[in-house]
Amino acid sequence: MKKIIITIDGYSSCGKSTLAKQLATKLDYVYIDSGAMYRAITLYFIQNRVDWNVTEEVVNALKDVHLEFMYNPVSNASEMFLNGENVEHFIREMVIAEKVSEVAAVKEVREFAVAQQKKMGTRKGIVMDGRDIGTVVFPHAELKIFMTADITVRVERRFKELFEKNKSITIEEVKENLELRDYIDANREISPLRKAEDAIILDNSQLNMEEQLELVMQWVEDAIMAHT
Ligand code: C5P
Repeated sequence: MKKIIITIDGYSSCGKSTLAKQLATKLDYVYIDSGAMYRAITLYFIQNRVDWNVTEEVVNALKDVHLEFMYNPVSNASEMFLNGENVEHFIREMVIAEKVSEVAAVKEVREFAVAQQKKMGTRKGIVMDGRDIGTVVFPHAELKIFMTADITVRVERRFKELFEKNKSITIEEVKENLELRDYIDANREISPLRKAEDAIILDNSQLNMEEQLELVMQWVEDAIMAHT
C-alpha cells in the first residue's frame, strides 16, 4: 500500500502524540515528535545558560546541539537523545514546559529544527506532530489534521499526566502553562500555530480514543486512495 505523510498540528495537550503513536503503530509508520526537539534545545539552553534573546549565543550554542530519536523497545517508543544522552524524562518536566515556547519562537532555533524535520520526511510513511508541520515542514503532506479540544478537557488530561510524576503540581499551574504556550505559539512571528488550509479539524472533546482512531483511520484510507 502507498505510504503517505500524516501531519498532526494543534494546541497543547489535545492528545496529538497519543493519536500519532496509535496511527504509527497501526500503519507501521515512523512517529516523530517535533515538540521533543524544541524541548531538548530548551534543556540544552537552560543547562548551558544560553540567553536565547541573544542571536549570537543561540547560533553558537546550536553548533553543539545534536538531536537524535532512538527507539526504546522497553517503552515501545522513540526517545529523544541530546548529544548522545537520553533526555526523554527531563524534557517533560515543568521547567522545560515553562520556557519551551519562548525558545521555539526564536528564528534560528526554528530553522535548525525545521531543516532536520524536513530531512526526516524524505521517506514517506511518517506521522509527525507539532505546531507548524502541515503549514511549514510538510506543506505537501497527503493528510493534515488540526486537533483541538476544550481547554478544561485539555487541562484535566495534562494535569493527570503530570500529577503521576509530581504530586505537588496544581491544576492552576497546568492551566496557566497551557494557555501561555498556546498564546505564544499562535502569536509568534515565525511559523505560528495555524490550521493549514487543507487540514481537517479534529475536535476530540467528546470523543474517546477508539472513536477517534476509527474516524482518523477512515481519513487515512481516503487520503491513500486519493493519492494512489
Ligand atoms: O508538542 P509539545 O507540547 O511537546 O511541544 C512543546 C513546545 O514546542 C510547544 O508548546 C511549542 O512552543 C513548540 N513547538 C513548536 N513547533 C512544533 C512543535 C513544538 O513551536 N512543530
